[in-house]
Amino acid sequence: MRRKLAAGNWKMNGTSAALSELETLINAHPTADVDILICPPATLIAQAAKTALKSPVQIGGQDCHSAESGAHTGDISAPMLTDAGASHVILGHSERRENHNESSMLIHDKARTAHQSGLITLICLGESLAQREAGSTLDIIADQLANSTPDGATATNTVIAYEPIWAIGTGLIPTLDQIAEVHDFIRSKLETRFGDQTASGIRLLYGGSVKPGNADEIFAVSNVDGALVGGASLKEADFSPIINALEHAV
Ligand code: PEP
Repeated sequence: MRRKLAAGNWKMNGTSAALSELETLINAHPTADVDILICPPATLIAQAAKTALKSPVQIGGQDCHSAESGAHTGDISAPMLTDAGASHVILGHSERRENHNESSMLIHDKARTAHQSGLITLICLGESLAQREAGSTLDIIADQLANSTPDGATATNTVIAYEPIWAIGTGLIPTLDQIAEVHDFIRSKLETRFGDQTASGIRLLYGGSVKPGNADEIFAVSNVDGALVGGASLKEADFSPIINALEHAV
């Protein structure tokens, strides 16, 4: 059985005042039947990790460099994330692929380094609206999955997040059949590459405009093991109902 995961990506939102939302979240979930992850801005990781110590909430980074250290001004390494108390890192978010020209090969190298540092990687994949309309969604997903995921990926160190770019922050979501099609496809590609046992343990998250009002139906979809949530993870009042929906889907 794959343990479900509710992951929140705060993106470039939040100063230390936002930690009160994390505290409220922790108080609302003293125990949990699913994994809960918050990925705050890098400046808050150490404080957030201290706040979340001994709680079911884990803390992650939103990116890391492919090198462990060196002359990379402004970047954050995987060992720095673990040192600050992070257990996970999001890699290949479409905002990084687009705004920072990140290629799947770079994401692959980042993931390999993150695994070496003991981090669990959330590797993001997703098509643009033009690619979906051109009928190339599965080709794009296959290419990103193959080239972003390192050979050392296991059920323990890797989570895959399917995030259609056109659904992120727009209030639009694919049909449930479209989500099922992509998630089933990712599972079958993982089986071919890593074998049934490893592939059956790798969690697949859906991301893109997940809200309290649509979480139940999304979590009922085949091969959806949780969600990567942006906007609705910023407030405990929005994120808790999503976590509760995931717990009920277990
Ligand atoms: C995201 O950026 O990963 C995301 C899913 O954002 P939102 O939930 O706001 O669409």
